Amino acid sequence: AATPSYRGRFAPSPTGDLHAGSLLAAFASWLLARRAGGEWLVRIEDLDPPREVPGAAQRQLDALAAFGLDSDLPVLRQSRRHAQYQAALDRLLAQDLAFACHCSRSDLAASGGVHRRCVAHGPRPGHAAPQPAVRLRVADGAVVEFDDLLLGRQRQDVAREVGDFVLRRADGHWAYQLAVVVDDAEQGVTDVVRGADLLDSTARQILLQRALRLPTPRYAHLPLLLDAHGRKLSKSEAAHPLDPADPLPALRAAWAALGQDARALVAVETVTQLLRAARDSFNPAQIPQAASGLAAMHNDPD
Ligand code: GLU
Repeated sequence: AATPSYRGRFAPSPTGDLHAGSLLAAFASWLLARRAGGEWLVRIEDLDPPREVPGAAQRQLDALAAFGLDSDLPVLRQSRRHAQYQAALDRLLAQDLAFACHCSRSDLAASGGVHRRCVAHGPRPGHAAPQPAVRLRVADGAVVEFDDLLLGRQRQDVAREVGDFVLRRADGHWAYQLAVVVDDAEQGVTDVVRGADLLDSTARQILLQRALRLPTPRYAHLPLLLDAHGRKLSKSEAAHPLDPADPLPALRAAWAALGQDARALVAVETVTQLLRAARDSFNPAQIPQAASGLAAMHNDPD
């Protein structure tokens, strides 16, 4: 299918219920897509069973529907897409752009957690031969630069700051970086709008797009919602689930957090009215990079 001129997405992991931080990403990506006359889709990133909460994916979808944010395309679930990720990995392995890695955590700790070249040559004798991790081979001097639509020019020396990164984990699960790149490309996503907690992953994703000869979308990273103690909302007590039965207050709060004029929404009484009014008066130039109660995360490799 032809790539549309604008296709955005919201890609939650079903590790809990929709909270204020995830609604902010969903609403902002929806607003930017609608403002561009584009499409918007939802993808469930259910690739990490140990971290998943049973029923969370469906509750997230139900909550999004209550907030009026319905996917324009059928909802894709990453757990059904192993064959596509395997095909991408096979291409990288065949070109020697990826390699099997038997290094242990302690091997990696010795190099500050940055994997450069394997220190373990093959499985360790005495260990029940585990499946190796597979990593992308990151060349020396692999520096990625990109223009974030909200944060401006970004730059990361992936070789020095990240190293050869994991594509398939030793426990057999797919790494987020590989799956997100394969799916954004296959779904024709032109614009990735997400929280600044993922800014640090973007350079890796761009390197992977280049290795797989896939297009690079535009990126915009949103300010993170912080609680009164400056903690990331998603990890604090304040990340309580939103009430889908009462959607207007949460949408108004997300609108305010995006730096938008509250007066545009005062008269609305339904979700449909709110979304229409929001779409009509949305001004991306007002999205804060950092403000009181909000802060953009810096690109620290931590
Ligand atoms: N699934 C990821 C998360 O919930 C987001 C992926 C993305 O937006 O690229 O943190």
